[in-house]
Amino acid sequence: MTHTPHQSAHIIDGVALSHQLRQDVTQRVQALKAKGVTPGLAVILVGENPASQVYVRNKVKGCVDCGFHSVLEKYDADMSEADLLARIEALNHDPAIHGILVQLPVPKHIDANKVIEAISPLKDVDGFHIASAGALMTGMPGFWPCTPYGCMKMLESIGFDLRGKHAVVIGRSNIVGKPMALMLLQKNATVTICHSATPDLKAMTLQADVIVAAVGKRNVLTADMVKPGAVVLDVGMNRDDAGKLCGDVDFAGVSQVASYITPVPGGVGPMTITMLLVNTLEAAERTLAS
Ligand code: NAP
Repeated sequence: MTHTPHQSAHIIDGVALSHQLRQDVTQRVQALKAKGVTPGLAVILVGENPASQVYVRNKVKGCVDCGFHSVLEKYDADMSEADLLARIEALNHDPAIHGILVQLPVPKHIDANKVIEAISPLKDVDGFHIASAGALMTGMPGFWPCTPYGCMKMLESIGFDLRGKHAVVIGRSNIVGKPMALMLLQKNATVTICHSATPDLKAMTLQADVIVAAVGKRNVLTADMVKPGAVVLDVGMNRDDAGKLCGDVDFAGVSQVASYITPVPGGVGPMTITMLLVNTLEAAERTLAS
C-alpha cells in the first residue's frame, strides 16, 4: 500500500459496513425462519448502569430490526448471584434462545467470571467463556468476541491482507486486546501487544502497519506515533472535555498520517453489535447443522 503523508486518511465507516452486514444477516434469518428456526437472543441486565441501559437497548433493537426473537430481562441491582446463575441455567435449556448475553459490569456482589462460565459455550455469543477463548486460541470453531471480530471485518472490508504485516495492539484485556491479537495472528500478521507496562509505546507503534488502540484513554495514539500509511482502528470510548464521545486516537492528527482510520463514534462501536447479531445467527444455524 502506498500513501502520501499529509493527506487525509480514508475513513472506515462502521455504520455503513454494519448496515451492509446486517442486510446479509436479515436474509439469513429469513432463510432460517423458513426452516422453522427463529434466532433468539436473551439479554440480561442487572442494575441500573446508564451506559449499560443504552448498550442493551441498542442490542435488542439490532435484533428486532434483523427479525430475531429477542428477550430483555432486567433485574434489580440486589439480585443474588444464585438467582442470576439459575436464570442463566434456565436459558441454557430454552430452545427458543440461541444466544445469552449478560451485560457487564454486573454489581460487585456478583462474580462476573462465574456468570460468564455459567453460560453454555453453545450460546456464548459474546465469546467470553473460557471455552470460546480456548477455541479462538487453538483455531477451533467457537464464538469470537464481538469487538475484535468487528475490527477484523473492518480490515477485510478494505481488502487488507495481514500476511507478513506488523500489527500492534494497544491493550490486553480479555474482551478486546488479547482476542484481537489472536485474530490478527491467525491471519498471519506479526503481532505485538502493548500495555500499561510497555516502556516505549511509540517505538512499537512506529513499526506497525496496523494499530488497534483499545485502552480507554484519550490521545493514547498521536500522529508522531504512526508510520505513514498505517491502518488505525480505534476501539476506545471516552469523553472529551465537552462531554462528546471520542476514542483513544487523536483523530485529527492521525488521519493526516494513516491510510485508513476508524472514527469514534461511527467506527468500531456499531460493528460490535453487528457481530453479536452474526454470532447469534450462527448459534441458531449450528442447531440445524448438529
Ligand atoms: P480495559 O480492560 O481497561 O483494558 C485497557 C488496557 O489498556 C489494559 O490492558 C491496560 O494495560 C492498557 N493500558 C492502559 N493504559 C495504557 C497506556 N498508557 N499505554 C498502553 N496501554 C495502556 O479496557 P477494555 O475493556 O479492553 O476497553 C478498552 C477501551 O475500549 C475502553 O475505552 C472501552 O470503553 C472500549 N470498548 C469499546 C467497545 C466498542 O464496542 N467500541 C467494546 C469494548 C470496549 P494493563 O493490562 O497493563 O492494565
